[in-house]
Amino acid sequence: MTLVAVTKTVGAAAVHAAYAAGVRDVGENTVQEAARKRLDVSEPVRWHLIGHLQRNKVKALEAFDLFHALDSARLADAVDAWARGAARTMSVLVQVNVSGEASKGGWSLAALPLEAERLRTRSGLAVRGVMTMAPFDADTRTLRACFAGARYAREILRDAGHPAEELSMGMSQDFEIAVEEGATLVRLGTTLFGARH
Ligand SMILES: *Cc1c(COP(=O)(O)O)cnc(C)c1O
Repeated sequence: MTLVAVTKTVGAAAVHAAYAAGVRDVGENTVQEAARKRLDVSEPVRWHLIGHLQRNKVKALEAFDLFHALDSARLADAVDAWARGAARTMSVLVQVNVSGEASKGGWSLAALPLEAERLRTRSGLAVRGVMTMAPFDADTRTLRACFAGARYAREILRDAGHPAEELSMGMSQDFEIAVEEGATLVRLGTTLFGARH
């Protein structure tokens, strides 16, 4: 299991401190903030983009090792086109919306099998797994169901032939349950750096 230290809103000093404590993976939710912060970070960390990306900014992915928030077919096609144009592949996680909340992006479990097939033909993408966000303030049972749904989504991707090993799930308020449900990447901000202001 890998800890992704979420450094959004905290400065580069937080990255230095996390690195000194053994953290090697850092998550940001916007490409703008990540680009600014990287200027002050020389440690060889892996950068994760964990937030939504606009289609006109896909080129910014060149600075990231893993994109967690592939949340629509149109974005997938834009990332694929950019990656192929750059003669590379981009490692991505498919975001799934297990709970069906309207405020969250990503595919439903019902829609995923068809999209998993479609993504097979997008050679610029390496689909490494699934990312999900659980509902805020959900009870334990709901959280478990949500994370189990993400695990099932990873099976759907594997069955379609993707190299899907990762399960990015768990934030400060729910990571213990996410780990019990098989998370391979947990994304922690508040727990590591305190409340954001
Ligand atoms: C901010 C953020 C996190 C970390 O949230 P905390 O509750 O501070 O741990 C994790 N994942 C995503 C997608 C985020 O935007």
